[in-house]
Amino acid sequence: MTVMGCIADDFTGATDLAGLLARSGAKVNLRIGIPEGPPSETADFEVIALKCRTEPVAEAVAETRAALAWLKQTGAERFFWKYCSTFDSTAQGNIGPVSEALMADLGASQTIYCPAFPENGRSIFMGNLFVGEQPLAESPMKDHPLTPMRDSNLMRLLEPQVTRPVGLANRLVVDKGVEALRARFAALHGEGVAHVVVDAVSDADLTIIARACADMRLMTGGSAVAMPLPAIYRGMGLLGAGADGAQFKAPAGGALVLSGSCSAMTRAQVAAYLQHADGYRLDPLELAETGVGAAQEWLRGKPADAPKIIYATADPKSVGAAQDKLGVARAGKLVEDALAALAQTGRDAGVRRFVVAGGETSGAVTKSLGVDKLSIGREIAPGVPWTFTRSGGHDIALTLKSGNFGAESFFADALEMLS
Ligand code: ADP
Repeated sequence: MTVMGCIADDFTGATDLAGLLARSGAKVNLRIGIPEGPPSETADFEVIALKCRTEPVAEAVAETRAALAWLKQTGAERFFWKYCSTFDSTAQGNIGPVSEALMADLGASQTIYCPAFPENGRSIFMGNLFVGEQPLAESPMKDHPLTPMRDSNLMRLLEPQVTRPVGLANRLVVDKGVEALRARFAALHGEGVAHVVVDAVSDADLTIIARACADMRLMTGGSAVAMPLPAIYRGMGLLGAGADGAQFKAPAGGALVLSGSCSAMTRAQVAAYLQHADGYRLDPLELAETGVGAAQEWLRGKPADAPKIIYATADPKSVGAAQDKLGVARAGKLVEDALAALAQTGRDAGVRRFVVAGGETSGAVTKSLGVDKLSIGREIAPGVPWTFTRSGGHDIALTLKSGNFGAESFFADALEMLS
């Protein structure tokens, strides 16, 4: 029986949440998009990855409601709406409108908002979100191309997104413990407050918050506030003792790193891995002229068990040059399509362990491998677990890393863990 159904507004955010839940040994399934047909082979936690962070509000609401309807069929009675720990949203949404729609469908009169992720430097104090030591609106998030965050105050950010009153349960209350926090929720409820921003600066705060919310129909937040839930549900007798995530056996076969992220961390990871692996660099301009054939040839020529990486990862100057010639969208699409095709080529040539870097890239690769359900295994780095699934009739292991996650040695570390 599924104890909690979760909906994430993007793909790597869903992986992050699934990884943190699986730390406890609970069984976690990650579904890519809303599954067709009724639930089968369900896990303790079911996470549905959507791609609705920057969709028009009406579409995001319709999709999340459909995801909720599917999750309800698993028997889950508790639900979680996961968004980014930097509260990525616009004045229109989609965090607030989706919360209100889910609350309406669940008959919930109150929910919490807690994007804090102390382990990754996201904390909330007096309703203000910090990235490391910087207020959100002074962090690099102020210049995000799609969701520039120009205010750090979560109440002010949320208010224009919702129709019902917003309030705060501040750190001083959280510090007093579970009962005090529950009393604060009740007092705010009495004042008609439906949306409660909750301060948290440490994992201990998150545990108090999660315990205070253990019976809420809907919680919302970043992944970290969900991390204590498995242990709490176990204490409540809702969840059996967990096995280790290592329960999954890594399939035998070759390994391949595919990198389409151009983030600073991924650039360093690619450079580090090239020290002890064969590499093939994809150039969008070449792809536009001659296609992906040469790269496929290269891949087929390599022994399955040789360490190898195919990457489009490049510095901002060469990315800019390719984008100037091809346009941003076409350059990105050429690279994504090429990496997606190469994943299939690799699989057909005996690769069974894939390390993929880049959020959009991960979406393209999983789609091309025909993957719609992943079982979550052990974490390699915070928020990046190994996952296990089937593709083309084979068992495969996949790890999907968003740009800036992981240490410099991530690719080698990931593959080392499976051996
Ligand atoms: P991240 O998680 O770092 O944001 P994504 O995979 O989400 O990584 O996004 C990277 C985007 O950049 C993808 O659309 C990818 O196809 C594109 N890209 C990768 N390499 C290049 C390149 N050399 N030139 C232009 N675009 C590129």
